[in-house]
Amino acid sequence: MPRGERAPLVIAIDGPAAVGKGTLARRLADHYDLRHLDTGALYRATAIRLLRVNGDPSQEAAAEAAARNIGDVDLHDPALRGEEVGQAASVVAAHGAVRRALLDYQRAFAAEPPGAVLDGRDIGTVVCPDAQVKIYLEATPEVRARRRLCELRSRGVESIESRVLEEIIARDARDRRRSAAPLKPAADASRIDTSALGPDEVFERAVATADSRLSSS
Ligand code: C5P
Repeated sequence: MPRGERAPLVIAIDGPAAVGKGTLARRLADHYDLRHLDTGALYRATAIRLLRVNGDPSQEAAAEAAARNIGDVDLHDPALRGEEVGQAASVVAAHGAVRRALLDYQRAFAAEPPGAVLDGRDIGTVVCPDAQVKIYLEATPEVRARRRLCELRSRGVESIESRVLEEIIARDARDRRRSAAPLKPAADASRIDTSALGPDEVFERAVATADSRLSSS
C-alpha cells in the first residue's frame, strides 16, 4: 500500500543546540520521502518579530502575540540563524503561551500524509508523543561548539570558540531548566551520542534505528 494511505509516519529528532539535528532531519526526510520541519525556526521567527520592534523576549504577552503572527515568509528569513536570535528564541520558548501558540501548527504539519521529520527540543515528549520513531542526539558542549564554529566560518561569520561555547552552554541550560516542555529525551527515544561520529555515521545509525522501530511496529 502506498504510504499516503497509511497513518502518517512521524520521526522526532530532539537534542541540544548545534548537535546536528537539522542535518540529520533533512537527510532522513529525503531518505523516507517525508516533509521536514525545523521547529527551532518557529521560535527564532517569533524572536525576530519581537527584536525588530524592540520588544522584550521575556514579556510573555508580547512574545505570544509575535508567535501568533509569524508566517511562512518569517520562516525563511536569512537573519534566523544568528546566535543573538538563538538566545532570544530560547527566552521566548520558555513561555507556555508561546509554546501553545505554536503547537497546532507543528501537529498539523506532522499529521499531513505521508508524514514528516520534525526536529527540535520537545518533539518526542510533547509535540508528537506518538511518533513511530524518536531519536535524541547528544554530544559534548565542546564538540558542538567546534561544529558551530565551522558552520559559522563556512558562512563567512568570524567568531571566537570560547564565546560560542559559552552561548551554547547558556542556551542549553535555559532549555533544560524551563518548566514548559524542557529539553529532555523521551523515555522511549533512541539516544545517539554523536561526539565521535561524522554526519554519515550519524545518518547510518539513525536509519538503522528507524528501520528496526518501523519493522517492529
Ligand atoms: O534549534 P534551534 O537552535 O534553531 O532552536 C532555537 C531555540 O528555540 C532553542 O534554543 C529552544 O529554546 C527553542 N526551541 C524549543 N523547542 C523546539 C525547538 C526550538 O524550545 N521544539
